[in-house]
This record gives sequence, structure tokens and C-alpha cells, in this order.
Amino acid sequence: MIKRYNYFNDYLKQKFGERTLKVCIDGGFTCPNRDGKCGVGGCSFCGERGSGENTKNIDISKQVTNHLNSYRGSRANKFIAYFQNFSSTYAPIEILKQKYDSALVDDRIVALAIATRPDCINSEVVNLLKEYQKKYYVYVELGFQTSNENVAKNFNRGYSNQDFINAVKLLNKANIDVVTHIMVELPFEEKTDIMNTVKFINNLKIMGVKIHSTYIIKNTKLEKLYNEGSYKPLELEDYVDKVCEIISHLNKDIIICRITGDAPKDILVAPSWNTHKKIILNAINRELEKRNIFQGDNI
Ligand code: SF4
Repeated sequence: MIKRYNYFNDYLKQKFGERTLKVCIDGGFTCPNRDGKCGVGGCSFCGERGSGENTKNIDISKQVTNHLNSYRGSRANKFIAYFQNFSSTYAPIEILKQKYDSALVDDRIVALAIATRPDCINSEVVNLLKEYQKKYYVYVELGFQTSNENVAKNFNRGYSNQDFINAVKLLNKANIDVVTHIMVELPFEEKTDIMNTVKFINNLKIMGVKIHSTYIIKNTKLEKLYNEGSYKPLELEDYVDKVCEIISHLNKDIIICRITGDAPKDILVAPSWNTHKKIILNAINRELEKRNIFQGDNI
């Protein structure tokens, strides 16, 4: 099969010389959009486990060693310690250091990845991450989802596009790679929004993008909208269509780190196709082939 976009696995293989996998960690953080610092209740689609539905909040070192001692530890020789849940830079700096150190307990760990919000990036955090860069490859995942600030306000994002730009620039300056998340079919999104979002991130120095289909999970504000009939998720074929468009408009050098959401089966409300990752990937690849699209063709 001809590869029509940049695969994250290939990027890691090139960087580390072999297959490199993530160890997902719940660092026990919260989020300023939940604890009242900038909002309460969180983003309307965000679940009670803070976008890391498959991790378990236990001792950090234990999470890593449990992972590496299980069958998953034999699937590669190199691993990324990936702090996934909530805002993993939202704590006093000494706590951050303690938490990150507790994850770096095995020689097979070659990288540190931190998922957070743009408004939780500041020079103190960047300076701490720079220390880890001496020994590890470090990258930061920033939520963004959309460049339409009205849509963002509506799902209660709680930070501005300018906050996002500031965080990206601060990380760029320290040579820390940035991966960002964008979401397809957010509530009240206009047709042109997703392409505007792609253009917006094309204009920044971004290493990678995670493309998510918006899905509804239990006990979220989005579930309420869905139950009231005010929000309807996309059908699979419409999602595939939009992803093809995104790929064709995305800068050729950006790595696609995810191409669909990873809906947790136990709390997924809709759409049901979201749990069939392989089917979604195959459908996207077939469509790219059919339309003869390569990443960045339509810029
Ligand atoms: S910023 Fe992230 S963790 Fe916080 S509420 Fe929104 S999606 Fe959830």
C-alpha cells in the first residue's frame, strides 16, 4: 500500500531506529477548566477521566513497570512515557518534576510526552522540560480542537487562539516539538471551520496533529445535547470524507499522530462506528486511494 500521509510510527522509527511505543500514564492531574481556575465542568465532550479513558490513576512508577512487565513490554525495545490525562503540566513545578521523574524508571524509556492545555504552558514549565531534553526526546501535546472561537466558547474550551499561539511559540523557542489535537464535527461547527483550523495550524511550527472524530461519552454535556436532539454525530462516510479533505490541506511535513478518536467502549454513547479503528483506517485509506490524494496536495 502506498502511504499517502505521514505516519507517526514511521516518524518514531526514523528517530529511534526501531519501533517505539507509548506507555500511557495517568499522572493524577486535574484541569483548570474543571477546578474553577478558568472554568468548571470542563469541555463539553470531555469525560470524567479527562481524555485518557484507558489509563488507571495509580502510582506512576507502578503504571510504567506494570505496563513494561506485561506482554506490552515485549512488543518493542523503546518506549515513550506519555502523560495523557487532564492537564499534565497543571501543578507546582516541584510536583511536576516528581511526577515526571517517577515515570522515567526504566532504561527502555527514550522519550517524555506531556499532554496539556496551552494556558498551562509557561516559561517555568518549559525550563523544566528543557532539563529532560538533555536525556530524552520531549514533546508536548496541546489541545486546540478548533480555530473558531465561538465554537470553542460553546464547548467551554476556556482559552483563546492567542493562548495557543503563545504556548506553541514558547515551546518552539525551546526546541520542544508540539503535537496538537483537532476535532471534526464539534457542536455548532460551520462547514468551513475544520479547513480554517487546518490552515491555522499550517501557519505555526507544529510537528504533529491528532485528528479526532467527535464522539459522545456518558455523563458529559455533549451527551445531554445528544439526548435532547441538539447534536448529531457524523456518519462514518462523512468522517472519512472530511479526513481526506484535511489530509489534502495539511502541510506536507506535519506528522499525523492519530487519525480517529479512540472511543472507550464501556462509556461510549455514539456513534458506534467509533470503536472500530481498523474499519475506519481502512475506509480512509481506500478513499485516499480512490481520490488519489496525498498529504498536502491541495495547499
Ligand atoms: S482541557 Fe482537556 S482535560 Fe480539560 S476539560 Fe477540556 S478536554 Fe478535558
